[in-house]
Amino acid sequence: MEKRKLDKDLYNGFIKLHILYHAAKGKIFGLWIITELRRHGYDLSPGTLYPILHRMEGKGYLKSKKKIVKGKIRRIYSITPLGNSTLSDAKNKIKELFGELFEHDEK
Ligand SMILES: [Zn+2]
Repeated sequence: MEKRKLDKDLYNGFIKLHILYHAAKGKIFGLWIITELRRHGYDLSPGTLYPILHRMEGKGYLKSKKKIVKGKIRRIYSITPLGNSTLSDAKNKIKELFGELFEHDEK
């Protein structure tokens, strides 16, 4: 596959939704998210990801807790009730968009 640079503006929302989705399923942390997003074709550096997590926490979608793992501080994120309801609103929007994007492909 040709390697193209992703349009950050365009995919930022997708990345945040990925994060919300995984936070809804269980506790997550930075390095894990980077690996998971890479699997989906998003190449994020810690310098890009951490401000995103920070902003999402600032908005009240995520909460974090420090934990010491092998002598290092790891920040563990989990979803808040606001994050959960935001995710379900977004899912409805995505379903609608998805339907429109693919309505003509089905036939
Ligand atoms: Zn994922």
